Amino acid sequence: MHIGIDLDNTILDATSSFLHYYNIASGLSLTPEDVNDFYLYRLYGWDKAERDTIYSQYGHDIHWNSSPLPMAVEILQELFDQHQISIITARPLLFREVTIKWLQHHKINYHHITLIENKLQACIHAKVDVLIDDGPHYAEEFALVNKPVILYEQPYNLAITHDLVFRASNWMEVKKHIDYLAAAQLNADK
Ligand SMILES: [Mg+2]
Repeated sequence: MHIGIDLDNTILDATSSFLHYYNIASGLSLTPEDVNDFYLYRLYGWDKAERDTIYSQYGHDIHWNSSPLPMAVEILQELFDQHQISIITARPLLFREVTIKWLQHHKINYHHITLIENKLQACIHAKVDVLIDDGPHYAEEFALVNKPVILYEQPYNLAITHDLVFRASNWMEVKKHIDYLAAAQLNADK
């Protein structure tokens, strides 16, 4: 299978790193318990322009100092040995270099990497079979065109339910869903 995989809050814990630097920038002290919005900057009362200024200032450190989620590295290696792996992140191109260095540093192997906001179009173009992501809007977009998504569970995506949205609250569950989808594809190809 060709598997598309998001980075922030899917492979790695972006929330903790964003909160750390956004707290420095704002003087507030929000914690992960305060997070109920995919768009963290809205919790700080910033508009998009304010967020862009702060993100371009702190983004490199935010991304470099994020930690992989439990078992993500180990299971990604298993998936890499059996499948085609494309990292698909909506991070801006400005952070391409730190993103690639972070993946190297954490010994995460992959076949392709794409930094793009329109993930659906990218996945259709690259013939991705399934996307692993935490973004509620991506899950909805993919479900609408009957493309499966493994939704990495986060507080802001709990409301999403659909036959083709497979919820995973850790990487062991991600792996189970992938094995199920790969077996179903194998059967369909027979
Ligand atoms: Mg994400």
